[in-house]
Amino acid sequence: MNYKEILEQIQTEIHTQVNTGKVATYIPELAKIDAEKFGMNLYCINSGHYQFGDYSERFSIQSISKVFGLTLAMCIVEDNELFKRVDVEPSGDPFNSLVQLEYENGIPRNPFINAGALVVSDILISALDKPKQEFLDFIREIADEPTIDINPSVFESEKKFSHRNAALLNLMKSFGNINNPIEEVLDFYIFQCAVEMSCKELSTAFMIYANQGKKLITEKEILPSNKIKRINAIMQTCGFYDEAGEFTFRVGLPGKSGVGGGITAVHPGQYTVTVWSPPLNPKGNSELGMYALERLTTLTGLSIF
Ligand code: GLN
Repeated sequence: MNYKEILEQIQTEIHTQVNTGKVATYIPELAKIDAEKFGMNLYCINSGHYQFGDYSERFSIQSISKVFGLTLAMCIVEDNELFKRVDVEPSGDPFNSLVQLEYENGIPRNPFINAGALVVSDILISALDKPKQEFLDFIREIADEPTIDINPSVFESEKKFSHRNAALLNLMKSFGNINNPIEEVLDFYIFQCAVEMSCKELSTAFMIYANQGKKLITEKEILPSNKIKRINAIMQTCGFYDEAGEFTFRVGLPGKSGVGGGITAVHPGQYTVTVWSPPLNPKGNSELGMYALERLTTLTGLSIF
């Protein structure tokens, strides 16, 4: 497969695309990001990295962090304990919706909507001595990059605009599904969203999902392959909120998006790929990012379907 030529073609096409998306504005720090940024990094198990554009520039990973939170929780808590408190069904609702939670007794539909990630955060706080440090250490380890950190102004800014996430927590606490103080869970959740990584670093970190739970170079096992299979399944069915069906239809890979404009997708046994383009479609997923990934699976003729 000539991945170099395929990425060159995608790069050419990107320049001709009309982008109707809008950069996230719910916190001022994200609204400031240059809408023209575009980066893509493909990391193949057999042939290494291919990339173009702003692939080495760090951006706010936002909800992509939900995959790392779930993975860390699955490293330390038994699946039956974890999935008692958060389900694994697609929500069909926006990522920050409160509606379903009331009907479903405070059990979030899945770990990749905000409510689910807040429950996972609560579980991590109960299980870890220093949740923030251990969360960062985990990402640094799987990305092989000790300098990965949060953006403090995104963190501070999001803390001022977190009423809806606080509402989700309060509702779930009323159902007995949050054990720690609401302020503490909110603070840790916002910390995770504020992590910054580049397309290249995200593709490297996500290699554990393409390589049966093992890091690529050292083959060190982070999580057994049966648990990785479960995380990939949740990414496939729930990674794009109420657009998970559309992403599967157009791209055909498990993946996760964030309102910073990043998307990372996984082709198990083949590659990981990350795209970054800040303007989002109405469902909160990167418009050009989805286009680039659709072209990748079309031009390679490879997807998991
Ligand atoms: N920090 C954002 C929030 O909690 C993350 C949402 C997202 O990336 N979809 O609202």
